[in-house]
Amino acid sequence: MLKWIDVLKFANNGNPPADQRVEKTEAAWEAILTPEQFRVTRQHGTERAYSSEMCQLFEPGKYACVCCDTLLFDGEEKFDSGTGWPSFTQPLLPNTIAYHKDRGQGMYRIETVCNTCDAHLGHVFQDGPPPSGLRYCMNAVALKKVATKERRATFGGGCFWCTEALFQQLRGVMDVKSGYSGGAFANPTYREVASGLTGHAEVIEVTYLPEEITFEELLVIHLTTHNPTILRGQRADKGTQYRSLIFYRTPAEQQMAIAAIAEVQKSLDEMIVTEVVPFAQFYPAEAYHQNYYAADPEKAYCQNVIEPKLQQLRALYGPRPNH
Ligand SMILES: [Zn+2]
Repeated sequence: MLKWIDVLKFANNGNPPADQRVEKTEAAWEAILTPEQFRVTRQHGTERAYSSEMCQLFEPGKYACVCCDTLLFDGEEKFDSGTGWPSFTQPLLPNTIAYHKDRGQGMYRIETVCNTCDAHLGHVFQDGPPPSGLRYCMNAVALKKVATKERRATFGGGCFWCTEALFQQLRGVMDVKSGYSGGAFANPTYREVASGLTGHAEVIEVTYLPEEITFEELLVIHLTTHNPTILRGQRADKGTQYRSLIFYRTPAEQQMAIAAIAEVQKSLDEMIVTEVVPFAQFYPAEAYHQNYYAADPEKAYCQNVIEPKLQQLRALYGPRPNH
C-alpha cells in the first residue's frame, strides 16, 4: 500500500517503470479524444467540480485511463470525498500512476499522471481516509469505468453470523462478507461495535450477479428472514448494532427498498422499523467472524440460532432459494 512518504519519494527521486508505454503525438490524441478529454488529459486541465456523476458512483468495477485503457483504480478504493471530483485512496498497483511536483497556480501540489501514457489525471493529497491516508483527486473525464457484472448490496439484520449464512445459500450470490457500517469512525473493531455506542451496525456485504438474482429479490429475502419490526436487535442479540438496515447505492435502489418495505408490511401487524440509508463505507469484520456458520455448522450458536433461520429460509423460498 502506498502512503504519502512513497508518493513524495516517487515525486522527488523518480517513478517506478510502467509495465508498458503508450506514446502518441498530440494530434493523434486529439483525434481519438473529445475536446474536454483532450484539454484535461493532454493539456493539464481541470474539469468543473461536480460536473460528473462518477463522484457518486460506488458500484464494483475498475477505472481505466480514458486515453490508453490501462487500469488505474479499483472501485473498492473509491470514497466520497465531498470535493466534487471522484476520489480514490489507493491506485490499482504501485506503478500504475506517476507523480510529479506541480508548482502551478500558486500552489505546491503533487500531480498524478497515467504511468503508461502520461495522461494528466489530477492530484494526490495526504488527507484521505486510513489506512493509506491518500486522496487521489481525479478528473472524471480522464477515467472510464470498466463494466463488471457483479453488484454489491449491504444489509443489516441482526447478528452477521446469521445474515451471512442466509445469503450464502442464495443462487446468484457470489460472496458474502461480514462487517460493520453506519458508524462514526473508520475501521471499528468487534469490541468497539459490541459496545453499542459507536453507531456502527453489524452488516453483510453481498456480491451478486443481477442476471441471477435482482436487488428487489434480495430486499424481500432480507426483510422476510429477520424480524424487521424490532428496533434494537433480534431475539438472541440485543443492541443498536443489531438494528435492521438497508443501504442503497443509487436513488433507484432507495425507491426499490421503500417499495419492498411497503409490500412486506402488508403481511405484518407490527410496523417495519428498517432504516433505509445511503451506503457510505463497509468495514470487513475480523477474519474469525467470516464464514462463521460454514466453518463449523455444529457450533452451539449455529445449531440453536442460525439453523432455524436457514430452515425458515428454505420453507419460504424452497430448497434452492431464488430458484
Ligand atoms: Zn493512460
